[in-house]
Amino acid sequence: MTSPIRYFPAPRRARFCSQCGSTVNHRVPEDDNRERDVCDHCGAIHYQNPRMVVGTVPVWQDRILLCRRAIEPRYDTWTLPAGFMELGESTAQGAARETLEESGAKIKLGELYTIIDVPQVEQVHLFYLAECLSDELDPGPESLEARFFSEAEIPWDELSFRTVATTLERFLADRRAGALRTHHYTLESHR
Ligand SMILES: [Zn+2]
Repeated sequence: MTSPIRYFPAPRRARFCSQCGSTVNHRVPEDDNRERDVCDHCGAIHYQNPRMVVGTVPVWQDRILLCRRAIEPRYDTWTLPAGFMELGESTAQGAARETLEESGAKIKLGELYTIIDVPQVEQVHLFYLAECLSDELDPGPESLEARFFSEAEIPWDELSFRTVATTLERFLADRRAGALRTHHYTLESHR
């Protein structure tokens, strides 16, 4: 049983100022060019910016590590290990942390592989290449299961997110061609 998570993450639009508790106004501040949540009581302007999702493409021999999600959204679908970057960490640290939390895999982090703009959901997704140091896994509470897939076994119809599917597609094509290179692209709409 999972309980529904109605807000993940919480809505961008604030109702009250997090500094003083007054009601905020949604308007264009002076010398700005777009609407913000502005507190006219204490003067705080609550800027919102895209969130970074960081993850890895972990490989053991010729197989790729995927995790079956134990959390919403997309409960019970397969994903590359990834999650929201935390304050105070680098993208590489975040990718390694998410990989360890979701799968328990011990990895050697490689090069940045995909950089995917997803403006519709106000996110940027970054996946690093990663080499597993063994095939031992110990998935944490965010995963129902973690396992390695050969190319033929990848559950394309049960993947969590388009950024995961497109990263896997590029990785497999590059690997067949014998030349991994960094990819940067934009997803125009999000499912
Ligand atoms: Zn305020």
